[in-house]
Amino acid sequence: MAIGLIAALPAVLTGICCDAAAATPEFHIEARRVLDTPAPATDRGQHALTLTLVDIGGWNEAEIREAATVAARILAQCSLRITEAEWLRIRVPASHRDFHTPRSRELAQALGLRKPTVYFAAGTRQVPAFDAEAIGRGNSRTRPELADTVWIARGARDLGITLAHELVHVLMDSGEHVNAPGNLMAAETSPENTRLTPAQCARITATGTRNGLLQPGVD
Ligand SMILES: [Zn+2]
Repeated sequence: MAIGLIAALPAVLTGICCDAAAATPEFHIEARRVLDTPAPATDRGQHALTLTLVDIGGWNEAEIREAATVAARILAQCSLRITEAEWLRIRVPASHRDFHTPRSRELAQALGLRKPTVYFAAGTRQVPAFDAEAIGRGNSRTRPELADTVWIARGARDLGITLAHELVHVLMDSGEHVNAPGNLMAAETSPENTRLTPAQCARITATGTRNGLLQPGVD
């Protein structure tokens, strides 16, 4: 099943993305490319993660690429590899540049991009306002278009660590935080908080695979 999904993705993505974008002219794909990433995971026990990174807030492409590199390094401790990272810059109306549930639902539905999708937004209009938010399956029942997405506002600190932290929320389908010193899933993001326990890694790979967000490596 996993192998078939990988093979089918590019065609599905193109079809959904471009037809939907044409039908909603206010969302215009200005650029898209695959960023340099490690080779596909074929080693025993590795899990492959493909990311879609979407700039809707006027970010610097190099900043996004660097964040993905840092996140890949952090997630590698769980034998998890980012095997492809697609970057898109999308011009959206001012109403859709921030994370704001009703507008962001419209955007995610119109684009229909591969999940997990990380949106680099201008800001947030949510209350309370967080620099970054992750929406899994458990907290998307009233907003299904946002399942398996991350929303990061410009100015978020420690961007690569923040990206890894939010991706773990999505992959675990859990909003839990832990108090263990140095753990990535501490409530406060910090350069010192990058570690994941074997139990967390096991949960990431089990839940992420079950939800179709990770492709198991070859055993
Ligand atoms: Zn968190």
